Amino acid sequence: MAWAQVAQGLKIARVNAAQAGKIIKAADGLMTDVKGLALAVTAADCLPIYFYDPVKQVIGLAHAGWRGLAKNFPARLIKKLAGKYKSDIKQIKVFVGPHIKSCHFEVRPDVAAKFRDYPKHLRKRPSKIFIDLAGVVKEQLVIAGLKPENFKVFGGCTYDNKNYFSFRRDQGKTVKAMAAFIVLC
Ligand SMILES: [Zn+2]
Repeated sequence: MAWAQVAQGLKIARVNAAQAGKIIKAADGLMTDVKGLALAVTAADCLPIYFYDPVKQVIGLAHAGWRGLAKNFPARLIKKLAGKYKSDIKQIKVFVGPHIKSCHFEVRPDVAAKFRDYPKHLRKRPSKIFIDLAGVVKEQLVIAGLKPENFKVFGGCTYDNKNYFSFRRDQGKTVKAMAAFIVLC
């Protein structure tokens, strides 16, 4: 297994067998074509995003928070994956795992301003603004060439469901997070 250290940055690492058991420094995205080598990220409200090309047998995994989404991180990953492994983006399947949904992801106006290109995914309520992060991911990936039917999202919200860790809800001194992983068999 190779772990992304997770740094709310834009680094995407191509992982090979020599990196099994390692933590990939400062990376928020991993990709590989090595069978049996699991990729892993942690998340607790942020989005774990899984990528799979069943034709080229390539996988990718991203950790993305609002900072990454504001910089189009999921689209960067799918383009890099397609470029490095000669994948056709139209064949890639994407799944977004448990994360904080628009019911609880309230943001300050300065954060909302970074998403002004995605008005469909801003939910305005009296004196409050919420963002549908997975909606933003879908729009970014479809613009990058993903087929809409190849995009799926986990149904629940980490803040609502106590079975999940939630950074916003728990506000603990120690950060507790879920591990997301993907592996080619
Ligand atoms: Zn919620």
